[in-house]
Amino acid sequence: MAAEVLARGGAAVTVYDRMPSAGRKFLMAGRGGLNLTHSEDIDAFLTRYGEAAPALRAAIETLPPDAVRAWAQALGQETFVGSSGRVFPRAMKASPLLRAWLRRLDGAGVRFVFRHRWTGWDGERLTFEAPDGAVAVDADATMLALGGASWPRLGSDGAWVEPLTQAGVTVAPLKPANCGFAAGWSGHFARFAGQPLKRLALSFGDQVVRGEALITEAGLEGGGIYALSGPLRDVIAASGEATLTIALRPDMTPEELERRLSAPRGKQSLATFLRKALKLAPAEIGLLHEVSFAQPLAKLDPAALARLINAVPVRLTATAPIARAISTAGGVTFGELDTHFMLRQRPGVFVAGEMLDWEAPTGGYLLQACFATGAAAGQGALAWLSRSA
Ligand SMILES: Cc1cc2nc3c(=O)[nH]c(=O)nc-3n(C[C@H](O)[C@H](O)[C@H](O)COP(=O)(O)OP(=O)(O)OC[C@H]3O[C@@H](n4cnc5c(N)ncnc54)[C@H](O)[C@@H]3O)c2cc1C
Repeated sequence: MAAEVLARGGAAVTVYDRMPSAGRKFLMAGRGGLNLTHSEDIDAFLTRYGEAAPALRAAIETLPPDAVRAWAQALGQETFVGSSGRVFPRAMKASPLLRAWLRRLDGAGVRFVFRHRWTGWDGERLTFEAPDGAVAVDADATMLALGGASWPRLGSDGAWVEPLTQAGVTVAPLKPANCGFAAGWSGHFARFAGQPLKRLALSFGDQVVRGEALITEAGLEGGGIYALSGPLRDVIAASGEATLTIALRPDMTPEELERRLSAPRGKQSLATFLRKALKLAPAEIGLLHEVSFAQPLAKLDPAALARLINAVPVRLTATAPIARAISTAGGVTFGELDTHFMLRQRPGVFVAGEMLDWEAPTGGYLLQACFATGAAAGQGALAWLSRSA
């Protein structure tokens, strides 16, 4: 996005990427439908960035969700608003959008140089590790948009932290965001790995979200978990564990649950009874067993069982590795930047995208902030170039 703004403004742009092709994480985001942005009103939208909202506001107001939709449309990708308010291209994938975008950038004169890893500076020159050895490059302005540290095999591995820190730039530690957690399952329950838990209400602290979770060998991941991952991560970091509460049948009142659980069980096994009375899946019943080791499930009376079903306590002890997270929290702190996303300490060097110190839930907020900061930093770089011309 920064390259596009710069090229349109008349700059000669070269994009260096350490990977053999462009936009690999963007393509991966397309595997889940490519949630480009969200349709909610701008004030609600901005609250999703928490403490970083003030630093992102101007950029997002300049390139708001409607502008992202118009941008996609101009690239031949009509968008639609899904039932949750999320915005997707009709194609539900990234490849046609990326192809059209790269063609347009090529037409605007943007040059791509692949397999070049930025390693820092040698004086004023940018240094790269390239297939034939080290390369040094002069540039009138530099845009760093090197991503976070999740899914490193797609390109962004967070190795940029070192050269930036060495240059005296403050970088908040990179942490997993929209990530899964370890729950220390017993071997018995770990056999449900890969199975989803659907239509849940998940709560932590004063936050309650509706969504799904996926059982993993180590613990839990998935949309509902990601939505609470920021506070869960921070509490685990501070105190070593956090207890997530899961309601398996959030639309049933305690009375309704208890009434159904009070029906005569006859000769049915507990599992059969729960499956018939509440349509609980084997993984859900497994989870109830998993958390009720202190008192076996079969010993609980209907009222206690009803309470447990809608308040399953799951003790989480660690975040899943950052390499598996959807996004990255932490990054170059906003205090290091002027209002045009230029590093105060290195005039002419701009920073955009996920490598900045913000985080947001899934829902299109991630790409939206990357697009918006890319465009804003691009404008900043144009202004800088014209000032120094
Ligand atoms: C599985 C998955 C699904 C996702 N789905 C969505 C979604 O639906 N909606 C949404 O909003 N967000 C989604 N995201 C998040 C979104 O893809 C990212 O937030 C976004 O791509 C970040 O953009 P960026 O340009 O800042 O960084 P990136 O897209 O990571 O791009 C950074 C680029 O810099 C290159 N690079 C890194 N280090 C160097 C270096 N030292 N030298 C040279 N090049 C380097 C990398 O190769 C890469 O091409 C998803 C993420 C994942 C992992």
